[in-house]
Amino acid sequence: MRLCLPVAALVSCAAPLVALAQRSSTVPLLPEPTVAALAGELSGASAKRNLEFITRQHRMRASKGFRTAADFVAAQARSYGLEEVVVHEFPADGHTMYGTQKARLGWDPEFAELWEVRADGSRMTPVLRVASFEDEPVILAEDSDSADVTAELIDVGAGTSDKDYAGKNVRGKIVLTSEAPGGVIPLAYDKYGAKGVVSAAQNQPNAWSREDVNAIRWGHLDSFETRHAFAFMVSLKQYRGYVERLAGGEHVMLHAVVKASRHAATYNPVTALIPGSDKKGEEIVLSCHLDHQRPGANDNASGCATILEVARTISKLVADGKIARPSRSIRFVWPCEVECTLALFHSEPEMRARFKAVIHMDMVGGGPVTKSIFHVGRGPLSLPSFVSDVGQRFGAFMNIESQMYAEGTGGKYPMVSGEGGKEPQLGDLDEFSMGSDHELYQEASWKIPAIYMNDWPDRYIHTNFDLPSNIDPTKLQRAAFIGAASALYLANLKPADVPALWAAMETASLRRLATMLDRRATLSPAEAATLTRGFLAQEQQAYESIASFAAIPDSVKQSASAYFQRLATITGTPAPAESARGDAALVFARNASVSGPMVVFGYDYLADHTKGHAPPKLLDYQGLRGNGEEYGYEVLNFVDGKRNVREIRDAVSSEYGPVDIALVSEYLRALESAGVVRTAK
Ligand SMILES: [Zn+2]
Repeated sequence: MRLCLPVAALVSCAAPLVALAQRSSTVPLLPEPTVAALAGELSGASAKRNLEFITRQHRMRASKGFRTAADFVAAQARSYGLEEVVVHEFPADGHTMYGTQKARLGWDPEFAELWEVRADGSRMTPVLRVASFEDEPVILAEDSDSADVTAELIDVGAGTSDKDYAGKNVRGKIVLTSEAPGGVIPLAYDKYGAKGVVSAAQNQPNAWSREDVNAIRWGHLDSFETRHAFAFMVSLKQYRGYVERLAGGEHVMLHAVVKASRHAATYNPVTALIPGSDKKGEEIVLSCHLDHQRPGANDNASGCATILEVARTISKLVADGKIARPSRSIRFVWPCEVECTLALFHSEPEMRARFKAVIHMDMVGGGPVTKSIFHVGRGPLSLPSFVSDVGQRFGAFMNIESQMYAEGTGGKYPMVSGEGGKEPQLGDLDEFSMGSDHELYQEASWKIPAIYMNDWPDRYIHTNFDLPSNIDPTKLQRAAFIGAASALYLANLKPADVPALWAAMETASLRRLATMLDRRATLSPAEAATLTRGFLAQEQQAYESIASFAAIPDSVKQSASAYFQRLATITGTPAPAESARGDAALVFARNASVSGPMVVFGYDYLADHTKGHAPPKLLDYQGLRGNGEEYGYEVLNFVDGKRNVREIRDAVSSEYGPVDIALVSEYLRALESAGVVRTAK
């Protein structure tokens, strides 16, 4: 906090203010009239009105609720003047393969109630309605099947190991568990004969988990199992109440009624287009995911309503002649997470082949109550791209503008919604993180660079408390600005823009250098050299990636060459990689017919294709900055028919921290036995 005293302190207080106010008018990358036009048209309130409709639908993949939301988005897109607005229909039939994603069946819940009942002679009298689908659809675990069961409730603790059932007879009863129902069903239902599950599992753990005792969390059963089980999700408060009563020797009878079924249905992603003026064969994509439990306001009605607002704004500004029609086309995609995106990639290969870059939004509106931090993330080390720098440059601009506005010291373009907050939006300009559809775009099968905008953590994610009232329209407006500005910039990028782009990239690269040097100081000499090699390769490749959008002028080539020489002077020349022998020298190539990452939704391609084998140990590895899933994703992405196992190990170590080559080698062998990769030489 800066306190200003009259007269004497005026000078020292005022001086930085002047400097800040000047900084506020430096618009990056785009011409200022374009930024002014966006600032004048973008509306967080408009986005929030659309969000409110979406949050009233229980948007399970391939369900009626999802279809209602999809039809709404399509209607809005048409009313905004977008073209080629399509609600796609791709089979969700339980067997079609979309690359590494096996289609799940549709799931349409209609009714679910859980009652506590009391035996009155031979009759059961209702005592208390414990859970109602009509109130809160999240109370029914996804993929539950129809049931009409009256049974005693029995506490099995976690219910995930045999010892939880020792000395208990759960046959014909409903089990109470603290864990996710999908993990409890194999023992409780299949082995010990329970009729159903009541769960208070806490998924997506964060610092606030188990504190919001009235929150009910989204739960899931196994989509591909043929059994007909059901599970109700209850709050921690309800759960603890039952644990106490059962421990006190009370008998609790429950009556569960579920009407729901899995059946062949369709995935219904929506796509729409703002056609480009000349480069129609190239598209910049704005993406989100439209599915999830009701209300699912931040996750992810926020991202969907925000890209819809970007669509409305660019379409209107072009129609009004306030900005020129972009050179490349801008495509908008509202899929169900991961599954619909993979279904789209495989069913519309010609469309997908036009995708040049994606701006993906998953949770971009969390107000202060959600405790969320906004991020603008980079791509993975396997796909360094200037596209990351574009998104982060606009993110940095938003940070500065919103901070100066909040402090009363400037900020010409704070993007404040009339009904939203005024606080600064200090977005974290991050390295790559996983967790949404941007993983698919950047996967080595497609290599489409992505800007990932997301809130993390969010104390209400996947609960009935992820409400529209938590959503800040100002934040939606700011996310829409970063998305719209990045999309317009990428859609128009031409050689004349490259000098300014490279200037922005140089300063961003120097910031990354500082981070790298910090990390390097903690490593052994060999791992320090590995990190340095990975860093220099990443910076070089990010620079070279410009050429896929615009020819690099000679002046920039000279400037870049001088920069990389300076960079190597600072980092020192790293020792060359250890020479590889035996397994370390093996080179793998991707099997092009198996496209997509190993981790998709409800289905594990690698596990399904290596049945009877223990999962590779790499997937349980916890490195300095990455977990097993992240190492696994990137190891496969680094497979290119050229790098040997040693080089892949070094690349992933540079990204996530040192890892034993034996783990990488074992993982690649598992991928080979699953037919995902083959030895190239
Ligand atoms: Zn999400």
